[in-house]
Order: sequence, then structure tokens, then C-alpha cells
Amino acid sequence: MAAQVIDGKAEAATLRGKIAQEVARLRDKITPGLAVVLVGQNPASEVYVKSKAKAVQEAGMRAFDHKLPETTSEKDLLALVAKLNADPAVNGILVQLPLPSQIDSQKVIAALDPAKDVDGFHPVNVGKLSSGLRALVPCTPLGCVMLAKTVHKSLAGMDAVVIGRSNIVGKPVAQLLLAENATVTIAHSKTKDLPATCRRADLLVAAIGKAEFVRKDWIKPGATVIDVGINRVPGEGGKSKIVGDVAADAKETAGALTPVPGGVGPMTIACLLLNTLRAACAQNNLEPPL
Ligand code: NAD
Repeated sequence: MAAQVIDGKAEAATLRGKIAQEVARLRDKITPGLAVVLVGQNPASEVYVKSKAKAVQEAGMRAFDHKLPETTSEKDLLALVAKLNADPAVNGILVQLPLPSQIDSQKVIAALDPAKDVDGFHPVNVGKLSSGLRALVPCTPLGCVMLAKTVHKSLAGMDAVVIGRSNIVGKPVAQLLLAENATVTIAHSKTKDLPATCRRADLLVAAIGKAEFVRKDWIKPGATVIDVGINRVPGEGGKSKIVGDVAADAKETAGALTPVPGGVGPMTIACLLLNTLRAACAQNNLEPPL
């Protein structure tokens, strides 16, 4: 039987609708504001930033866009971060990565007010997440767990394997799955016998960045597969297309899987809105509504 396709687009639309409703309900008290900072002209980053700003406005929030030239110094970027930290209209700050080589990304992340760190990359938020405390959690991992929970009411006791150990996806998704009481294995480029490790997984999260790397016979029959990968490959008629980290025929073995595109990607933006709403509520001593 072909796998259930987890519709990330529909899930994201539902979540965005709920967020917009909450923003409208809170209008008398707050209007959440997100500042998005883009340094340079990375075409992929420009597309992401545009769609983030559009989503923010559609949710009834305020978007503050800051486009800085490629040659921006670290000092100038840190000065902008300090200004945004101090601005009460700005509840969330997102500095689009990667940054040009003259800027130390870790320094910039560490300079963010952790309460406004809607990407969840600040060491305080990373530490809170791993300590099981309430934190702003990275958007893509949060979306992955939400999608897994559309298939499984509870992830408790499931054998979860995460392929990838980046700070952006692999490590935080593993922490979130642990918080859901899954038994978590983190696999990476040095893992011995990756196919056998994957075959143990009831829940497999692929965050590698290699087109269709995970083969269908690596997947335990009936497993749920969350494909985080975004890989551009040659398509028909000289055009390129986007594929995930999991081979297309994995639907023959998996029980449920996220498509690429239309799976994790749309959830990432919805979770950014959720984090902005949560940050705005926390900064104004309001209970987070979602
Ligand atoms: P990364 O390059 O920082 O990390 C990749 C990880 O894969 C590393 O930890 C590495 O150990 C592991 N890896 C590499 N080769 C491997 C191998 N042969 N076997 C096992 N593990 C291997 O990438 P990232 O930032 O974590 O992103 C991963 C993928 O997710 C990319 O395709 C990226 O574009 C995508 N992504 C998607 C979204 C989204 O919104 N959908 C967001 C962030 C990242």
C-alpha cells in the first residue's frame, strides 16, 4: 500500500489561520512585530526573506525589513541587532543565514536578545531546550515534530532516527523528539552502517542535504518519514527541480511521509509566525495562546 502523504502545505495553512485569528484577538493589546535582517544578495536568502515578510503581514503582524549591503561590517550588524533588541515594537529578530565571511555568525546570534530569538539559535534557547525548559525552538525542527504528530498522537516510546546533526535541524529536532519521549538516535556522516540504523526507525527524520540519499530499502515498512532536505537537481527540459533527501520510491515502504516540496518547507514559515506570536506574548506577560 502506498504511504500516506503528509500534507505540509495544508497543515501550515491551518496553523497560519489559527495564528492570524489569535493576532486579531490580541489586537487591542499587542501587534507582534518581526524584524528580518538580510545581509548581501544571496538569491535563495532573498526568496526566503520575501516569503517570510509576506507571511508575517498576512498573519496581521508587523514586518520590519532590513536589507544591508554585502560589505556590511560585523560592528555595523551588531549595532543594528542592539537597536532591534531595544525596540519594543520588534518582538522577534531573524538574521538570515548564511552571513558574509567578514561576519562571525555565532557572535551575531549571541548578541540577540534570547527573548526575541525567533530562530531559536541563541545559546540560551539551545540550553533551555536541552534542559526541558520553555524556549523559543528552531522553526524547521518544530515543524517536523508537528507533522509527525499529525500521524501519531503520541511519539512516546517510538524509535526515532535523525540523520544529520546540524545546529539548525538535526540536533534541535533530536531534542524535541526526546522531549516527546521518543528513543532518539542521531546518525551523521561518520555513522557506521547507516542503512541498518535507519531500518530500526519507526520515525525517520532525514536532514542531510543530499538528493534522494535515503533509499527505500533503508526504511522500516510502515515507518513515518520526515524529509527535511531541499536539493536542487536537473529536471525536465533543462529546468531544475527540488527534491528531498529521501528517494521518491520510499513511498512503497514508508507508512507516511512528507513530500518535497510541500512538506516541511511550508511548516517552517508557519512556525516562524508561531514563534513571533509566542515571543510577543511572553514579552507582554500574556499567556502564549498556541
Ligand atoms: P548541514 O549541511 O548543516 O548538515 C547536514 C548533516 O548531514 C550533517 O550533520 C552531516 O553529518 C550529515 N551528513 C552529511 N553526509 C552524510 C552521510 N553521507 N551520511 C549521514 N549523514 C550525513 O545541513 P542542514 O542545515 O542541517 O540542512 C539539511 C537539509 O535540510 C538541507 O537540504 C537543507 O537545505 C534542508 N533544510 C530545509 C529546511 C526547510 O525549511 N525545509 C530548513 C533548513 C534546512
